[in-house]
Amino acid sequence: MSSLTGVQVSTVKDRWKWSANSAGLFLVKTVKRMLKEEVVQDNSFVIDWCKWVPAKVNIHTWRMEMDRVPTAEALKKRNVGIGDSICPMCNSEEETVEHVFSACFIASNVWNGISSWVKIPNIYAFSLKVLHTFYKDLNLSEKKKDAMQGILMIVCGSLWRARNNAKFSNSPIRIDSILSEIKALGFLWFSNRSKHKGLEWREWTSFVNM
Ligand SMILES: [Zn+2]
Repeated sequence: MSSLTGVQVSTVKDRWKWSANSAGLFLVKTVKRMLKEEVVQDNSFVIDWCKWVPAKVNIHTWRMEMDRVPTAEALKKRNVGIGDSICPMCNSEEETVEHVFSACFIASNVWNGISSWVKIPNIYAFSLKVLHTFYKDLNLSEKKKDAMQGILMIVCGSLWRARNNAKFSNSPIRIDSILSEIKALGFLWFSNRSKHKGLEWREWTSFVNM
């Protein structure tokens, strides 16, 4: 109604007006400018594809960044009725994507296990973007950085699997099993799919001679 109060009806013929241009004319140039501005404004995170982990693991990372992982909070936002929105891993906090992969004490215990395995300072990530990119600033060989990139993705995949098993099958959460799964999957894929084929299990588990 308030938009209509300023409208004056006249007898002048109606015409189309291109609102992106002050003169009201349609120009391809202005479309290009709008598209460019859109790209700049869109600050969504573009993940670096990790070649040695399977596509589904990369895609899971990407979905996390886009808040497209069906956590209780994400489903609520989309009006999907779910009863309990408490994290099934710790049973104490609201289940958001940041919680499941970073703040939950199960997740932080897993991250601690990972940081002591790969011998880097404890991982405290305040955002998912940091969680997936901090390895780039570590003083590591290229080979270890390559390994780290995939390991971070595998951790998130395993945390999500553990969460699903807890939620839908009532399986107890065991941090040591999650860590073992991460190491085993990482070894399987890194030693077969990366450019560092033929790596031995001993090297992988000690992460020293890599
Ligand atoms: Zn939790």
